[in-house]
Amino acid sequence: MHYDLIVVGGGIVGLGHAWAAAKQGQTVAVFDNNSRAEGASIRNFGMIWPIGQPAGPQRDLAFRSRELWLEMGAAAGFPVRKCGSLHLAHHEDELAVLQEFAASTAADGLDVELVTPERIAELTPAANPSGLQGGLYSRTELRVTPPTAVSSISAYLAAGHDVKFHFDTPITRVDSGEVTASNGQTWTAERIVIANGAYFQHLFPEAHQAERLRLCKLQMMLTDAQPAGWNLGPHIASGLTLRHYPSFSSCPSLAAVKQRFAQDSPELDRFGIHVMASQADNGSLILGDSHEYDDDIEPVDKAEIDALMLRELQKIMDVPTWNITRRWHGLYAKHPAQMCFVREVRPEVLVVNGFGGNGMTLALAFSESVIHRWQDSAQWELLHETH
Ligand SMILES: Cc1cc2nc3c(=O)[nH]c(=O)nc-3n(C[C@H](O)[C@H](O)[C@H](O)COP(=O)(O)OP(=O)(O)OC[C@H]3O[C@@H](n4cnc5c(N)ncnc54)[C@H](O)[C@@H]3O)c2cc1C
Repeated sequence: MHYDLIVVGGGIVGLGHAWAAAKQGQTVAVFDNNSRAEGASIRNFGMIWPIGQPAGPQRDLAFRSRELWLEMGAAAGFPVRKCGSLHLAHHEDELAVLQEFAASTAADGLDVELVTPERIAELTPAANPSGLQGGLYSRTELRVTPPTAVSSISAYLAAGHDVKFHFDTPITRVDSGEVTASNGQTWTAERIVIANGAYFQHLFPEAHQAERLRLCKLQMMLTDAQPAGWNLGPHIASGLTLRHYPSFSSCPSLAAVKQRFAQDSPELDRFGIHVMASQADNGSLILGDSHEYDDDIEPVDKAEIDALMLRELQKIMDVPTWNITRRWHGLYAKHPAQMCFVREVRPEVLVVNGFGGNGMTLALAFSESVIHRWQDSAQWELLHETH
């Protein structure tokens, strides 16, 4: 009942901390509300997405996460595919952004190539050729199927590192050295990490208020399995996506792209829609997404958003079946100014949260850095300064 590390939250952030500590030989326990992880970490595209991270320390962290995903996939026995990504340009201004990106330091560290429509047809059968101007192919991005990845990581940590998983165990109180579950049972630890994602109001709400953490809701869809042998190839992203990721923000032509969409399709900005697609291990396409924040979030999903996303996807993609078999939404916590935050809310109790739409891409490496720096108090201030 006593551990070196207790982790509250069995999503990718919690699992990342559990793995890093277990690799050091620490005894670790993970607690989750539900009978299995059901949060953002199993509801996403499964895109490990360095191309969306700003060049510099944040992209470096994504590269380190990439290595860790490959290591974890091999160890835990689930597919981590080196699929890469393809941003499609169906408009001149989108192509200009991709050209500017490829030619600038914004692409530092990435293995990118501007590609013609002919080359795109070799890379994927899914690009809609109508109006296609070109694209940007990156070889760096990875693909996992999120529910498979998360359950495989948990099973591997339990079997391979003796991490103790306590599912169906909501933690209602955390003090230095001790967590208490809703049934009153307690467990003790030298250190505690709280990685409770979108449930951030429930423990130390004052810390999250101080960070001005935002809640974001995203709607997603899944198609039927595409025909056997049909492979998407790289993840597909659209001109709309260029508005979303900060890595493109220094491209001079981005303003024209944003202005065009704002003028021609204000409904897309209203719901924060940009469209992307990845392929799950069973051949289905994972499609999304939209972004609604805080007070705009309704508990029920909007059919209008799904229709708009399909409309935009069909402008850029042509796939054998668009039959939608699953619809869901995910919630994540997003820091308004940083890629995430770490706050020591009690001695030896850390809250780690706020990764927004980048947790799958960043959390494994970030968790590793937290655990490594926790060992070394001289590094601790540095961690606070960096993030
Ligand atoms: C639709 C969608 C698409 C996305 N696509 C991508 C993508 O392709 N690439 C990418 O990099 N990122 C993506 N993201 C972002 C990424 O999924 C998140 O940043 C990441 O999953 C957050 O992980 P987490 O562990 O903080 O949260 P979660 O996965 O939500 O985990 C938190 C866990 O804590 C548990 N919990 C909460 N409170 C308690 C408590 N008191 N006691 C016990 N357990 C508790 C919950 O049950 C939950 O399992 C996407 C997110 C969404 C929603």
